[in-house]
Amino acid sequence: MANKIYDMIIIGGGPGGYTAALYAARAGLSTLVVEKLSAGGQMALTEQIDNYPGFEQGVDGFTLGERMQQGAERFGAVTELAEVLAVDLAASPKVVYTSEGDFYARTVVIATGANPRHLGLPREQELTGRGVNYCAACDGMQYRGKTVVVVGGGNSAAADALLLSRVAEKVILVHRRDTLRATKVYHQPLMKAQNIEFRWNSEVVALQAESKLTGVTVKDRLTGEESLLPCDGVFVSVGRQPATELVKGQLQLDDAGYILADETTRASLPGVYAVGDVRTKQLRQVVTAVADGAVAVHSAEEYLAELN
Ligand code: NAP
Repeated sequence: MANKIYDMIIIGGGPGGYTAALYAARAGLSTLVVEKLSAGGQMALTEQIDNYPGFEQGVDGFTLGERMQQGAERFGAVTELAEVLAVDLAASPKVVYTSEGDFYARTVVIATGANPRHLGLPREQELTGRGVNYCAACDGMQYRGKTVVVVGGGNSAAADALLLSRVAEKVILVHRRDTLRATKVYHQPLMKAQNIEFRWNSEVVALQAESKLTGVTVKDRLTGEESLLPCDGVFVSVGRQPATELVKGQLQLDDAGYILADETTRASLPGVYAVGDVRTKQLRQVVTAVADGAVAVHSAEEYLAELN
């Protein structure tokens, strides 16, 4: 039997991916979502989302992800739980090679998101889960009554420091500059929290550990002086790395590795679209990811109409 050719394959089941699936399936396109683990992507790791409209009490990211999946499946979108190993986006039809077999489609939406960036320190990988963490909402509860270091100065670091201040005894925020990049909404609560200390103009240069983390070495960038901060855990909140390994060499990327695509979400090959955090854009949020998902299907419908 000939292989089925989908109208659209979506790689990644976060908010951008499942919104594309909802719009595509609802428009009558045969739609497959390939997702590695479970719906929601990075959003599923967020304990409380207050800036997605329609939830007056906020909503947890895992629940929202599941609801987005169910909403798309209601119109016939199919989810395949598989790891994508490679893609051929220039072929006709386009091919998505996965751990569960090969899938074919006329259009492909890349919705692979972005993963936490690492500090790149010796032993960082080995100590992950043994004191080194990348998700305060996931792992913060282990540090009840303990001392933790948060590295970074953006919205993630600010949100993580506040969340951890409600659990840990002491939180030390280490930032490489003397001001936060985080939006103003975080500044006052951070300054008011009794148990958050700041180490400005400082960077973590080493992890101290035997079998698990016991502290970090911090270097003052102005004086060059190094000091040891004993702690039970470190949360690395220094931004994210786009998940574009699969499409390198096939799609144009910007200097930071994000897929180059404008508001139409069209990537550099016909019939390929980039949505959510993986796309070049100004603001990476759930609302902007879902908007991308809708726009991608609009662009894909125009492309499919020309193919026929
Ligand atoms: P981000 O805004 O890119 O901030 C990264 C922070 O880490 C910056 O302060 C940066 O320092 C620092 N940094 C980067 N590399 C470093 C290194 N090697 N060593 C030490 N520090 C390093 O990343 P983010 O906070 O993860 O946010 C990502 C996106 O998600 C943003 O668009 C953000 O607005 C969004 N977000 C929004 C919310 C919210 O609205 N509630 C919450 C979380 C995330 P410099 O300041 O010196 O560059």
